[in-house]
Amino acid sequence: MPDWLWDHGGEGFAHVYRVEEVLLDTTSPYQRVRIVRTPMFGRMLILDDAVQTSEADEFCYHEMLAHLPLVTHPAPKRVLIIGGGDGGLLEEVLKHPVERVVMVEIDRAVVDATLQWIPQIPGRAFEDLRTELRIEDGFTYVRACAERFDVALVDSTDPQGPSVPLFGAAFYGDLHRILGEDGVLAVQSGSPLYQQDLVTEVRRNLRHHFPVVRTYLACVPSYPGVLWTFTLASKHHDPNVLSPEQVDRKIAGLGLKCYTGLHHVASLNPPPFLREVLEA
Ligand code: SAM
Repeated sequence: MPDWLWDHGGEGFAHVYRVEEVLLDTTSPYQRVRIVRTPMFGRMLILDDAVQTSEADEFCYHEMLAHLPLVTHPAPKRVLIIGGGDGGLLEEVLKHPVERVVMVEIDRAVVDATLQWIPQIPGRAFEDLRTELRIEDGFTYVRACAERFDVALVDSTDPQGPSVPLFGAAFYGDLHRILGEDGVLAVQSGSPLYQQDLVTEVRRNLRHHFPVVRTYLACVPSYPGVLWTFTLASKHHDPNVLSPEQVDRKIAGLGLKCYTGLHHVASLNPPPFLREVLEA
């Protein structure tokens, strides 16, 4: 294992981490799964050659993917998570008074690796009685799904291998079918700096099925370029109508470290140099 881990972003650009210890290095039927210890970000989950999450900044990603869509829905009770094997997103969702969370992760090795080496990320979310963990392909699960949900969250790897269909219009159409009339969906949609084509494609594919499509920004220090995007799609509720005060009332007492009412508004209003790609 080289002393330095390179997580490549766009052309000629990468984030580089000094690796103090390799805690796990295994290959599952789907991907290479590594847990490494670094000085700045602590323990990190690496799938293939991409940083997925770290103990130091996981909340920056998981809070933004969980809470903005959950407060956009009037009263979410049934939530579907596709991917999210590290359990950090699940833990955030369970902070809300939801009744049931179905999480569909394709690779058991990711769940086991995080539970063993970075247990503070999922906490006890997998033991929660409201949680149903299914180890299967999210695309085929949603296609055959008879259950209905209020909110769906897609926390997938970037589009390669099994995650490619999770960015397609067909998948978003299937999700639209299993979301209730107040349904809200949010997906990780890549870097606004070096994956602009992906952001545009995700927005286009979501607009085939949903009238409200909003891309919002997050800062995830351990991701190349730090800036990241999520894209919300909704059957009619628009996160832009929520005031900072209304958001703060909805998240009061959840003990969040990143997402706030003011951050809600700021994340949905990109700076001019990004407006074109995030609002096209
Ligand atoms: N935050 C990370 C990111 O933005 O790159 C994603 C974290 S999470 C660990 C990604 C998860 O998606 C992985 O555990 C991977 O196994 C899972 N995944 C990929 N394709 C999938 C599929 N078709 N169905 C279900 N889970 C899938």
